[in-house]
Amino acid sequence: MASRRKRYALAIDTPKCLNCKACVVACRAENGVPLGHSRNWINQETRGQLPQLVAVFDPEQCHHCADPACVRVCPTGASWQRPDGVVVVNESDCIGCRYCMIACPYDARFFREDEGVVEKCDFCSARLARGEVPACVETCPAKVRVFGDLNDATGQLRRVLATRQYRVKKGEAGTNPQLYYLV
Ligand code: SF4
Ligand code: SF4
Repeated sequence: MASRRKRYALAIDTPKCLNCKACVVACRAENGVPLGHSRNWINQETRGQLPQLVAVFDPEQCHHCADPACVRVCPTGASWQRPDGVVVVNESDCIGCRYCMIACPYDARFFREDEGVVEKCDFCSARLARGEVPACVETCPAKVRVFGDLNDATGQLRRVLATRQYRVKKGEAGTNPQLYYLV
């Protein structure tokens, strides 16, 4: 029997985020991200009115879009989408033109000055190949990040999305993002 195709995605339980940035540190260590750049980060917002102000933390990174604008504009095919949905950059084909950085509505990519190539989250592809979850998912002390296969009807990701309300951040570029923010 043919094996079922996976579609990796991530749900983020935003209300549980502590803003500890353990995920950012873990990603940096796992992927050798140069100082001054980040593959993931935490946005912070203050909501409400004095004296009842609430801090809201909003983890961000590549949304591994189903119709990725970055892939559409890449002139060399260096940016491409794997059959399992993970959007990756093949560094040996990247010419550093940065068209993909302009096209991405989430500012999810950065230019590596030391290597002359563009870099971004790849869901820790090396870890995935070993059957492990991304470093940010494993490290988060509050278990904010739920990583899994959208095509696995009995998996944790599908179960979470079936029982919780969520939103996706739809950008103007119509990229059909695949990061699910639980509310
Ligand atoms: Fe939020 Fe988890 Fe990242 Fe900490 S590790 S900042 S709790 S997402
Ligand atoms: Fe590409 Fe940006 Fe979508 Fe990631 S978030 S797949 S870099 S368009």
